[in-house]
Amino acid sequence: MTERRNLLHPRDEIMQTMDRIYRYRMTTTSGGNLSIRDEEGNLWISPARVDKGRLRRDDIVCIRTDGSIDGRHPPSSELPFHQAIYEARPDISAIIHAHPVALVAYSICRELPNTRLFHQAYSVCGQIGFAQYACPGTKQLGANIAQAFREQCDSVIMENHGVVVGGNSLAHAFERFEAFEFAGRTLLKAKRLGAVEFLSDDQLQQAADRCVELGEYDPPQATARERELRHELCEFLRRGCRQRLLISTEGSFSARLDRDAFVVTPTRQDRELLTVDDLVLVRGDKAERGKQPSRATRAHQAIYREHPEIEAIVFAHPVNATGFSVTAQELDVRTIPESYVFLRDVKRVPYGVQYQNDGSISSYVSAASPAAILQNDGVLVTGRSVLDTFDRLEVLESTAEAVINAITVGSISAMSTQVINELKQVFQLP
Ligand SMILES: [Zn+2]
Repeated sequence: MTERRNLLHPRDEIMQTMDRIYRYRMTTTSGGNLSIRDEEGNLWISPARVDKGRLRRDDIVCIRTDGSIDGRHPPSSELPFHQAIYEARPDISAIIHAHPVALVAYSICRELPNTRLFHQAYSVCGQIGFAQYACPGTKQLGANIAQAFREQCDSVIMENHGVVVGGNSLAHAFERFEAFEFAGRTLLKAKRLGAVEFLSDDQLQQAADRCVELGEYDPPQATARERELRHELCEFLRRGCRQRLLISTEGSFSARLDRDAFVVTPTRQDRELLTVDDLVLVRGDKAERGKQPSRATRAHQAIYREHPEIEAIVFAHPVNATGFSVTAQELDVRTIPESYVFLRDVKRVPYGVQYQNDGSISSYVSAASPAAILQNDGVLVTGRSVLDTFDRLEVLESTAEAVINAITVGSISAMSTQVINELKQVFQLP
């Protein structure tokens, strides 16, 4: 996902990715295994029967090209299917297998989640496919999965089992795995709200074509305020990934520095691992030299220019609120006082407005509607500080989750106009 040279040893990469999958609750401690094929053809894989929550670097097993095994534990019992995939696909250098609950739901219904839900899932997951059931650990399971990969599938649902994805690096495979699971989870939420809308070829192309053209400049020494904003953004990006309000390689977060400048996330770098130096300073029509600002930079800029009171902006993908974005269902936040006071009137932005770079996105947010749902592309939240924006993002996601849960409970009674007017008065809402 990032074009930087990878300097992590396969042991550390496997350990860190396994830790992340476990932290994100995308596997149980017994399920799931990861592998890397290094440039010499050695295969590094997670061990069998070791607590995934406490993996150490010397727990990772190496199968050398001559077949000898180097490690304190036996390799994962699913080694045969990892080997079968590598044999079928010379372009694949890393594999992730796990049992994330949303995709397992598809696996046990013999269905594939449609990734045309988001341009990101569609472009990241590659071709998706299905592998027939066979007993875990067997050569037959390896043959069934390898068949799907031979047909150029990169993300494969395994019948009555789970999912397996390949990539040209472990970071790439993780990006696929996360996007695939996110599409699956969003579909499950959305289907409870109504008919799901998928993207056409033209709409997918519109997203693929977006770009940001900015000049470059060498900014002067950073002020204490700029350093503080960078620090704060990194903290909340990490927190957002961990709370699964943001996905690792999509979405953007920025904070205003002054009237004409802001600091924004770079494009296509893992959000959970960003450091203060990765963020990009944008002033006027120029970005800090040598860095690639988010492709949503013009959208951030248009909002800051139009709304002097806005100090921070996030484009994010929390699963419940995003569920609303792929259906025609309005998110009515007149549910509890907190939701209304924080979110007010949540607008819907038609597909693609944020890619147009013509500034029109700025008309969908204001003091009276600080958050918006972006059709088939997550949410947009603004605020008076990074904390305020993050807080609103959390409230938006909790509100969406409560509304989706309420569908199971009974009929929703929204707060009346009288109650809303009282809130406006007491909280002095504009
Ligand atoms: Zn499994």
